Amino acid sequence: MDNLKNNCPAGHGQMSNAIVTKNIEFRGKQVSCQIESLQCPKCGLTRSTLEQTADAQLAIAESYRQQVGLLTGEEIKSYRENLGLSQQQLADRAQCSKMSIVRWEMA
Ligand SMILES: [Zn+2]
Repeated sequence: MDNLKNNCPAGHGQMSNAIVTKNIEFRGKQVSCQIESLQCPKCGLTRSTLEQTADAQLAIAESYRQQVGLLTGEEIKSYRENLGLSQQQLADRAQCSKMSIVRWEMA
């Protein structure tokens, strides 16, 4: 990442790495998550790289699942493995496609 891109658009110079707490409405729920971003030390404006945005989307989905009591991807995977089931076997039992299992476990 070059330095110009790390500058605050309001002209305050270099932004620095920060962990920012975001409160976002997601599927009708208020979810809170911590996101790694660039932040301007003067005005507090934040900006994320594409990678940080992708991480943030995962963190938001995770936070939402916890709030509404859904299993997280990691939980689905570990429960499946504890049962000794392959993704295909779980898909057969749940009467869904293997792709759905893959997607749920990654989310
Ligand atoms: Zn600024």
